[in-house]
Amino acid sequence: MLEVEEWKYERERMVEEQIVARGVKNKLVIEAMQKVPRHLFVDKTYYPQAYNDYPLPIGNDQTISQPYMVAAMTEELKLTGKEKVLEVGTGSGYQTAILALLSHKVYTVERIANLTMKARKTLDSLKFRNINFAVRDGCMGWSDYAPYDAIVVTAGAPDVPTALIQQLADNGRMVIPVGSEYTQVLNRVEKRRGRVHRIELFGCTFVPLVGKGGWNN
Ligand code: SAM
Repeated sequence: MLEVEEWKYERERMVEEQIVARGVKNKLVIEAMQKVPRHLFVDKTYYPQAYNDYPLPIGNDQTISQPYMVAAMTEELKLTGKEKVLEVGTGSGYQTAILALLSHKVYTVERIANLTMKARKTLDSLKFRNINFAVRDGCMGWSDYAPYDAIVVTAGAPDVPTALIQQLADNGRMVIPVGSEYTQVLNRVEKRRGRVHRIELFGCTFVPLVGKGGWNN
């Protein structure tokens, strides 16, 4: 990834005050959050707010997730650099960048073509080479490249979509917000010897997962 000096001090402060202070411990996640220039994933008018402790608009009524949420979800995946990862909800591409630094290959799907186009442009300009993009309903996963060692869903679902459970590898981990359209609980789903284990982690608020197995369909 291309190194970007601008807003470095703000990035360090974000990591210290919002991420380490709240208990994220994984060194690789912390380093990745220090490296990725979050301001480049939002419109220029939002640059001064890019390292603040909240989500921001990215157009099409969608948001770039709060930095802490990105770090906490990524930490739950326990990535070592070897994994094949599926991300449902590319959005701005910010979490995609963090995942791409920490895994072997990222497959990211988004239902809104305009967001995929913008995210791809940003990630290409930062010289990421291990990301595959698709515009599709992520509730159905991306079966062509399954199974995945890790799956992250960045929108709130009524329940864990069956296709995503099917496409999770044995010993794989998934994080997904599950609940109502307005408030959810982050769930960690693991598959061990074909059996699914599900743990509720903490409360969160995401935009709805829209599609078959999501909302409005
Ligand atoms: N991690 C992203 C970021 O930091 O920019 C978060 C993006 S936002 C919170 C969630 C994204 O999920 C939105 O861009 C939305 O369009 C997308 N989304 C919602 N339902 C989807 C579906 N069924 N398939 C793929 N993407 C979906």
